[in-house]
Amino acid sequence: MESGLLTRYAEITEKNRREIVLLRGSGCKWRRCAFCDYHLDFSLDEQENFALNQEVLQLVTGKYGRLEVINSGSFVDLDAQTFQRIVDTCIQNQITEIHFECHWMHRGAVSDLRRTLAARGIHANIKIGVETFDAQFREQVLLKGIDETDPESIAAGFDEVCLLFGLDGQTQDSMRYDIETGLRCFNRVCINIMVENTARLKPSRPVIECFINTLYPLYKEDPRVDILLENTDFGVG
Ligand code: SF4
Repeated sequence: MESGLLTRYAEITEKNRREIVLLRGSGCKWRRCAFCDYHLDFSLDEQENFALNQEVLQLVTGKYGRLEVINSGSFVDLDAQTFQRIVDTCIQNQITEIHFECHWMHRGAVSDLRRTLAARGIHANIKIGVETFDAQFREQVLLKGIDETDPESIAAGFDEVCLLFGLDGQTQDSMRYDIETGLRCFNRVCINIMVENTARLKPSRPVIECFINTLYPLYKEDPRVDILLENTDFGVG
């Protein structure tokens, strides 16, 4: 993935309206998920990351009072200058709600982040990629790295969940269970449909068609559910 080609700023104008930025960090520290290649968008050069990130953050206007920050990893992978610039951007633009991503392995860092942001008048919403609540499939096939099987325990430190649909082995029932479990345990659910990339796992057309024909119509208007049929549907990536 060539980071210069990515679109790194967008507005989400439907449901939970917000601006979204795709920043660059030092890279996902897990990097093993069998469906993922976007962890390739990283650099170990903090100054270069900050230079890029501040350009992107300059585009933020605060028009919705809400900002989502993603960085192909977890918020802990962002350098300190970038983090400070995010906070400053929120304060300057009257943004009081922010969304960050975090892998399970960094859950211990979430409460500090919440406290730091709350002290500046910013409420943090933390999103975790769980992909499915079928723990065996998740850990043996997807290699997600969540050593907890109970959905409520997984959700305890998080606000929002990402699910991944469109893989061999998933069914209408399994996907419905994942959505309903996500809605029960989290404030919001973001469904990503698997797209072809350089990772080992490939999309399953029959499973994707099953989702689109049966579950998509049921949930597409749900204000708590985002559905990304292409992983660039938020306008970044
Ligand atoms: S899906 Fe997320 S946690 Fe998994 S390897 Fe990719 S960036 Fe890392």
